[in-house]
Parts: sequence; structure tokens; C-alpha cells
Amino acid sequence: MAAMMQPQIILLKEGTDTSQGKPQLVSNINACTAVADVVRTTLGPRGMDKLIHDDKGNVTISNDGATIMKLLDIIHPAAKILVDIAKSQDSEVGDGTTTVVLLAAEFLKEAKPFIEDGVHSQNLIRSYRTACSLAIEKIKELATSIEGKSLDEKKCLLGKCAATTLSSKLIGGEKEFFASMVVDAVMAIGNDDRLNLIGIKKVPGGNMRDSFLVNGVAFKKTFSYAGFEQQPKKFVDPKILLLNIELELKSEKENAEIRLSDPTQYQSIVDAEWNIIYDKLDKCVQSGAKVVLSRLAIGDLATQYFADRDIFCAGRVAEEDLNRVAAATGGTVQTSVNNIIDEVLGSCEHFEEKQVGGERFNIFSGCPSGRTATIVLRGGADQFIEEAERSLHDAIMIVRRASKNSTVVPGGGAIDMEISKYLRQHSRTIAGKSQLFINAYAKALEVIPRQLCDNAGFDATDVLNKLRQKHAMPSVLIGEGASYGVDINTGGIADSFANFVWEPAVVKINAINAATEAACLILSVDETVKNPKSESAQGEAAMGAMGRGRGRGRGMRRR
Ligand code: ADP
Ligand code: MG
Repeated sequence: MAAMMQPQIILLKEGTDTSQGKPQLVSNINACTAVADVVRTTLGPRGMDKLIHDDKGNVTISNDGATIMKLLDIIHPAAKILVDIAKSQDSEVGDGTTTVVLLAAEFLKEAKPFIEDGVHSQNLIRSYRTACSLAIEKIKELATSIEGKSLDEKKCLLGKCAATTLSSKLIGGEKEFFASMVVDAVMAIGNDDRLNLIGIKKVPGGNMRDSFLVNGVAFKKTFSYAGFEQQPKKFVDPKILLLNIELELKSEKENAEIRLSDPTQYQSIVDAEWNIIYDKLDKCVQSGAKVVLSRLAIGDLATQYFADRDIFCAGRVAEEDLNRVAAATGGTVQTSVNNIIDEVLGSCEHFEEKQVGGERFNIFSGCPSGRTATIVLRGGADQFIEEAERSLHDAIMIVRRASKNSTVVPGGGAIDMEISKYLRQHSRTIAGKSQLFINAYAKALEVIPRQLCDNAGFDATDVLNKLRQKHAMPSVLIGEGASYGVDINTGGIADSFANFVWEPAVVKINAINAATEAACLILSVDETVKNPKSESAQGEAAMGAMGRGRGRGRGMRRR
């Protein structure tokens, strides 16, 4: 009897879903592999693109790992980690987002047989971490510095990095054209960290090659009133006035109640209204500015007034654009027209309103504070320009990264093969199980060249064998075996370094680091607990709301 009275231990709420141990680990690994399979085919210059459309009918075509992962809307808790590392790679270095996902999934895939055989995951994690730090040291050792080169040389080298990034994108066909544009843009803003100083404006229509770079600010012509056409559209060395006020005739009766005893006084009120606006306009003109921009509306009266005095004006300029004009021309945005001193006016060498395709653009170039650039992108479909913008963003990030860290490694899988070889060699010096794990890590690194081959339709096994043989040749210098990678044009192998398939070292370092971290994180999880509370609470709330809603609805109709 007493035995039956023994209390039962209840730890978790009823309905809690737990799974743990080996099956849980294996299932997480499988989920990650499935995610990687989605982006696998996008890697490299011959990679395919993905078209993703959501329930709102938005269509995105992209080759960018981070963009695809973001749009996939993954709900698997472990696989979500891969989305996070793709995002972090995107914000840290801008490129290598597919690479990082593939690497993480491959590290896990190589770990799977060991886990199934009963190896404790902590042993794997320890070896992976060791392998990771060895790999990163080796990359640093192999990287070539572009420090100390002349500006022209540096530009050329950075252009190569940008071209490598762009080669895997939709605009890859014009990679040299865009690469030099990106390098010029980055050079223009110098060491400034604010990315929004490089503006990208999209103008549908025309050819990719009609895209151009403005060393300064450009934005689309704003809404304008009659009289605008009489304004001059071109200035040399104009002063620029930036405002955040409305220049419009206001009927002041909206602001105050006015009582008149004599009808003849009415005219004086009307006159006063006109005087207010004319006073404002006069002050603008007296400031000596030839270009007047405002965040808020500039009405028809003001437009005509400025036109008569050979001044250009634009109202309703987007805040972002106005701020960039301010940064570039050295002006400050004013909230009042009283006391406009010379210091608050901006200036530039050249202002022009120019036709770009079907749109007109206000272009400020030769700005004294320099540090801005605008790329005006042309191209066919909207999705195309969107993807082009994302690609340029990658390239801009890469050039900025490379110009700061200034070390590059050969791409096309060359650096991956070399590290793989190095780790294999190293593993032979280790006694114990760790040897196997580091070997597995080394094997996983080969996924990059293998996938590059697969995506291009080459015989991956054949190419990889050639690469292994080349890298095994006793040479440590870049420019010999170590820099051989997949030749995307012929299906053989080629010296990636000599062919200028270059990537900033930081892309690889960051990718390997993040992928290892993610793999270790997933390997260290042996139990998932799904808490029923929050879910059912939500469910109840939803049910309750529905029930109430329905009840009331019926009741009301009946009444
Ligand atoms: P990620 O999102 O990881 O940057 P990409 O689709 O941009 O993925 O592919 C990058 C890979 O393609 C890198 O490993 C890079 O070395 C390789 N790659 C780029 N251009 C070439 C080329 N011309 N020949 C061979 N490999 C290239
Ligand atoms: Mg890329």
C-alpha cells in the first residue's frame, strides 16, 4: 500500500515535447544539411539564382546567400542558426554568405557518422575548434598584402576583388565595368565608415552599361510647379541653401481667428499674408544662393519668384538625399530663413539637372567635402535592378574591407584546398581520435571547390583529384601549387592568383570562423524542449478572441 502512495515526480508540463540524445543531434544535422541544399546551387560564377515569391506577391530573384536565407522563413530552431550566420557574414564582410552556410552544413555532415557511432560531441567540438584556429593562422600566413602599393596599383587590385565578387552575380557579364565604378565610389568616400555616403539610385530602363557614377550627390527631380521650367538648370560654383521649411503662400486665417470691423481692412490681411511669404523669399535670394532645396514643399509662387531671379529650387527632397547634399557640399539644413550666414550655405563645382532615361536627376558634382558618391543604376526589370543593387552592395563592402585589411587570398577554392591539405598533414602528427576529426574538418573544406565544379557542370571528382595533386606538391609559395583552384572557364584547374580571382582574406577568415562556431553550437545541443505553455497560451488567446468575436457578431445580428 505504502509503495503505491509514492509521489510521482512531474518535472515538465503535460504536452511538453522533448527529444534528446543522439537522434536529436542527427535530426538537427539533417535539418541544416537540408537548408544548405537550398543555397548550394547558387555558389560561384556558374551558380544559379533563386526566385522567391511571398504571399503578398513580392518576387525576388537573388544569388545572395543572406538574402535567400532571410526570405526562406525557416522555422526549424537549429537550422535558424544558419540563417543567423549568413546574416552576420553579410553585415560583417558583405560577401561569402553562401560559403558560410555551405561550410557549416558540411562540417556537420562530416560529424554525423561519428555522432552515429557514439562519439561524444564534445570531443568533436574540441577538435573542430583546434582545426579552425589552425586554418585561420594558415590563411593569415598565405595571404598576400597589397599594402604599400601606389594608388593606381591599389585601385587595380581592389578592382580584382570586386570583380571576383561580382562574377557570381547577375551583373557578372559586366563585372569589370561595375568593379571599377565601385572602386571609384569607395575611394571617393575615403575612410569614412558611413555606408550611406554611397548612394545607389535605381532608374528602370536602359542598359546596364548606361549606369554611371556621380562623384557627389544625385537624386531624382522632385515634384515641381509651373515656372520651374524657366529656372536655370545648370550652374558652375553655385551656393546651395538647404531648408526644412515650407515656402508656400499660407492663408493665415487657419492659424488665428481675425475679426474685422471694417470690410476695407480685409485687404490689409491679405497683403500681410503675401508679405510674409515675400519676406521669406527675399531672404533666400539675399543669401546669394543659386540653388534652394527644401525638405518641405516649395509652392508655385516661390517657384516663379525664384525663376524670375535665375535661381533653381526643389521642394520635397527626401531627407536622406538632403543630408547627403549637406554632407557633400558642406552646408547645414536651416529651419528658418532669418540670418542666413555664408557658413551655412553649401557649395559645389557643378550643378546640373540632367535627363537619365525617363527620369530627370539633380546632380551635384565636385563637392568640396568630397566624401559622397552616387551610383545611378540602369537596367531592365525591377527585380533585375534590385538584385544588381544587392550585388553592388556586396562589392562595395568587399572593396572597403579589402582596402582596410589589405590582404587577399586566391579564390576559386584554392585557399580552401590549401588549408585542407595543411590540416590533413597536421592531423597526421596527432595521436588519438582527434586525428580523425581534424581530418573530417579538412575534408569538409573541400566542399567549396567541389560545389563550384558541380554548379558549372564539371566532373568534380576529376577536378578535385587534380587539385589535390597540385596542392600536394612541395611548395609553400603563393603562385605555385598553393594558389591553384577551379578554372571556371575550361573545367580544369588554373592558378587563381595569376587569373586575378582574388578575395579579401577577411572573407574567408570570417566565413570559417562563423561556420565553425555554428557547427559547434549545433553539435553541443542534445535536447530540444518545446514548451507547450507559450504555445497553448497563444492558442487560447487566439481561440478566445475568435470565440468572442463570433459570439458578439451573432448576438448583434440577432438583436
Ligand atoms: P558567396 O555568397 O559565398 O560569396 P558566391 O556565389 O559569390 O558565394 O561564390 C563565391 C565563390 O566563387 C568563391 O569561392 C569564389 O572564389 C568563387 N569564384 C568567384 N569568381 C570565380 C572565378 N572567376 N573562377 C573561379 N571561382 C570563382
Ligand atoms: Mg559572393
